[in-house]
Amino acid sequence: MEKKLKILAVDDDFINLKLISSMLKRNDNVDTIVEATNGLDALNLLKTEVQIDLILLDIKMPVMDGIEFLTNLQSMPEFQKLPVIVLTTDETRKNEAFDRGAFDFLVKPIRDHDLSSKIQKVIDLF
Ligand SMILES: [Mg+2]
Repeated sequence: MEKKLKILAVDDDFINLKLISSMLKRNDNVDTIVEATNGLDALNLLKTEVQIDLILLDIKMPVMDGIEFLTNLQSMPEFQKLPVIVLTTDETRKNEAFDRGAFDFLVKPIRDHDLSSKIQKVIDLF
């Protein structure tokens, strides 16, 4: 049986977060969706939630942005291998995100089909 993922979606924009969540809810490969509104919020959730399988991460956020979040994640051995797909309007941040360990990258507006195929890539890792 294929693994179903527990996904942490991180975005400071409420509409974006709800859009991503609704796409994930329609995805048969997704089991649970957890939401955070900035990097710090996401880090705290990672420490308390059991076993997140994948993170969908916005870059531009207050308090702690996506790049700073990725940098923090890399410094924590228990989370270093956790796949992160960056979702952003700013394509110029792509190299920066990959340098800090991002697994994949999608430019907003996110289309259902593109997100699904990226999620499939993560499932193929298991
Ligand atoms: Mg943002």
